[in-house]
Amino acid sequence: RFSTAAALEEPITPPVKVEYTKLLINGQFVDAASVNSTCVNNITGQLIADVAEGDIEDVNRAVSAARKAFDEGPWPRMTAYERSRILLRFADLVEQHADEIAALEAWDNGKPYEQATSDEIPLFIRLFRYYAGWADKIHGLTIQADGPHHVETLHEPIGVAGQIIPWNFPLLMYSWKVGPALACGNTVVLKTAEQTPLSALYVSKLFHEAGLPPGVLNIVSGYGPSAGAALASHMDVDKLAFTGSTETGKIVLGLAAKSNLKPVTLELGGKSPFIVCEDANVDEAVDLAHAALFYNQGQCCCAGSRTFVHERVYDEFIEKAKARALKRVVGDPFKKGVEQGPQVDSEQFDKILKYIRSGVDSGATLEAGGQRFGSNGYYIQPTVFSNVQDDMLIAKDEIFGPVQSILKFKDTDEVIRRANASHFGLAAGVFTQNLDTANRMTRALKAGTVWINCFDVFDAAIPFGGYKMSGHGREKGIYSLHNYLQVKAVVTRLKNPAW
Ligand code: NAD
Repeated sequence: RFSTAAALEEPITPPVKVEYTKLLINGQFVDAASVNSTCVNNITGQLIADVAEGDIEDVNRAVSAARKAFDEGPWPRMTAYERSRILLRFADLVEQHADEIAALEAWDNGKPYEQATSDEIPLFIRLFRYYAGWADKIHGLTIQADGPHHVETLHEPIGVAGQIIPWNFPLLMYSWKVGPALACGNTVVLKTAEQTPLSALYVSKLFHEAGLPPGVLNIVSGYGPSAGAALASHMDVDKLAFTGSTETGKIVLGLAAKSNLKPVTLELGGKSPFIVCEDANVDEAVDLAHAALFYNQGQCCCAGSRTFVHERVYDEFIEKAKARALKRVVGDPFKKGVEQGPQVDSEQFDKILKYIRSGVDSGATLEAGGQRFGSNGYYIQPTVFSNVQDDMLIAKDEIFGPVQSILKFKDTDEVIRRANASHFGLAAGVFTQNLDTANRMTRALKAGTVWINCFDVFDAAIPFGGYKMSGHGREKGIYSLHNYLQVKAVVTRLKNPAW
């Protein structure tokens, strides 16, 4: 039996009105050249709004605006201090409108309103303040070279950045992309995910109120194969940043290569190991493993989706993990205390249920859940499988849903080998009291982030990105600045080098 906060059949009235549904090009909300598509609510299945659907022609318009703003506009020529102040004013405005923005995000994406308020909005604001702090600290080096030359490097903005984001964290993904790009003096065309176009439009309106010049930030809602592909293959886009699935990552990398060879950063999928060693505090590990998997309805690229548990604590862990999943509060995302809302759309919902069936069919033990939750909206019961084997699909594929797979291991060498036996390498979690084990695993695991006795720590200063097919490059922290800067070497001959 699962906890539920509300009868899902009751109609939900969101505490927010949808105001902005058009494309944002050159500082103006404009109609799409051809079509309007609809944005459907995954909480109730009802229609939220008609949203302008950008296509090639709209992407062309947005890129021209961004090009003009870069080549002729004030943005790259402003002092970095002025740019920084606009980013700070924007962060303040988002703080002032935090409740409406969180409500819009919950309404559009289905994530619990409390989660959007406590996690996503504060991280968003912090990220813009963090990069506002960097804006006036970006500079090159003076280099000692052989010969009578003065050598320096200039760190210049690249130009027009094309950015494509997914639906699981619409605001966070916006901040990771737009924050560093603008701090470095670039201009941007951002394509939001077709499932979640609303919050980016709202906050971008606030960005212009904060003093952002027209054309610096353009938002195109639309589908991947049309608007997304047009952006990735545009000859006048100087850099591409993409977050989404590995499959689409390969496509956009190809489009970038076939067009103008624009540099590409990719944040892709994952199948992250969460390793509970024999000396771990089991109660703490159960709670964190639960959060690592079920957070955001299981729709996290770095979800701890392979829970490896040492054989000595395995049985205790299973009992407690099952009890925790059964206590998870599923329901109306606007109700207090709700931990889990619906999946983002019918496609994800069907895909997850298919994976659950495959887990059962391949012989894993279903400890909890396994079905849809209620009869309305795209809710899925928090599901726990034990006795999962490495070659089962639920242990190999990214499910992107509330399905915990628990695997047993015997020793450190074995678990390192099994944890690394994946095409993905986004993140890993290790639970141990033993410093030597922690150090060994930290170095041996092939992952862009290793969390020791913690998980999902997303400070603006900490770089994030993947090994292997989880992506190229790092976002957040100082590392993301490198994605948005060109390095120019300037060599000046000295007539009289002696002093
Ligand atoms: P997706 O790849 O289907 O879509 C992501 C974005 O790409 C969307 O905006 C979509 O419209 C666009 N797109 C789709 N086809 C395209 C094409 N042919 N050309 C250009 N753009 C195209 O992924 P999704 O299902 O929306 O998102 C879930 C995936 O994102 C998961 O695999 C998850 O792991 C990954 N993700 C990764 C990170 C990270 O930081 N590594 C963060 C969040 C999500």
